[in-house]
Amino acid sequence: MQFRDLKTQYHHLKKDIDAAIQTVLDNTNFISGAPVTELEEQLASYVGVKHCETCGNGTDALSLVLMAWGIGPGDAVFVPDFTFFASGEVVAHQGAVPVFVDVDADTFNLDPERLEEAIKAVLKEGRLKPKVIIAVDLFGLPADYPRIQAIADEYGLKVLEDGAQGFGGAINGRRTCSFGDAATTSFFPAKPLGCYGDGGAVFTDDAELAALIQSYKIHGKGSFKYDNVRIGVNSRLDTLQAAILQVKLRAFADTELEAVNAVAAQYTEALGGRVKTPAVPEGFSSSWAQYTITLPEVDQRDALQAALKAQGIPTMVYYPKPMHEQTAFEDVPFTKGSCPVTESLCKRVLALPMHPYLTEESAGTVVSQIKKSL
Ligand SMILES: *Cc1c(COP(=O)(O)O)cnc(C)c1O
Repeated sequence: MQFRDLKTQYHHLKKDIDAAIQTVLDNTNFISGAPVTELEEQLASYVGVKHCETCGNGTDALSLVLMAWGIGPGDAVFVPDFTFFASGEVVAHQGAVPVFVDVDADTFNLDPERLEEAIKAVLKEGRLKPKVIIAVDLFGLPADYPRIQAIADEYGLKVLEDGAQGFGGAINGRRTCSFGDAATTSFFPAKPLGCYGDGGAVFTDDAELAALIQSYKIHGKGSFKYDNVRIGVNSRLDTLQAAILQVKLRAFADTELEAVNAVAAQYTEALGGRVKTPAVPEGFSSSWAQYTITLPEVDQRDALQAALKAQGIPTMVYYPKPMHEQTAFEDVPFTKGSCPVTESLCKRVLALPMHPYLTEESAGTVVSQIKKSL
């Protein structure tokens, strides 16, 4: 059994993907070919925003937004303590300070109450200027944007949605990657919508921001490529990846999002009551980048993982370490405040095999092996 079966997916989509790749090879427009702009329009329309700017990866997507907003030394950016390293890395990379905020034990996402406390603490301390909230759609579930946006409005902060894992989720019909002042996603192969290499995108309704990002991602270009008006980076999605993503976006929208939700429903139905299954609040829907159960103690988690491994069932621990305990953030102020929920989750979470081509039978095997070893 595969944790995320990209091979089976490729076999399902092979005809269309091979044809898309061949067309790019025939046209040899490897950078900025027609599929890139076509894909950007399709992504913006799927998500429900005015502008999509693709780029080299999901980390660059976050960085580009922070660059365009002029985030730098002296600024505080609030980041969940329970997330992939990149969500905080980009903040430190701009010279700003990531302030790690604890999460909700049921949704794994930023806890709005802890967020407001953290903003107040930074204001009270008085050395840093609160500027941005990076809210992460962890494991595919949108963060609590209605409450986060209300806090952002009250304190005059911008909201950046890190939708690297969230593409395809929604709150009351509004899709992820459309929340906040800007949103980003990643097309890393194992994400809900993945390409065959690295890729990412920024989404926004703000035309000025979109124009700035287009400039920053191509060496700070001005009116044309050899007119450079600011210091930027080189971060483009290449044509091959865009052509592959056009095929994958169709499959995602037609069948795959529904398929992962079916697997999740099967897991929750069969495991609920036996083990803590992931919560999806009323009105929210997830794209199930991960299906994460929570065990009572670290020993039980590790024993279950070992037992499943012995039966050929792969599982993963996302994430084993809180952000504030990462060595790279050792010298960052505000990292000493503990985040007890994240600390506890890191010891107790276990992600089960999850992908759109996981059969009902295979998911059933995962369930029965879990029940057997509990
Ligand atoms: C994967 C991921 C990123 C980074 O995306 P890359 O394309 O790998 O650079 C950022 N944030 C979160 C939450 C992620 O899961």
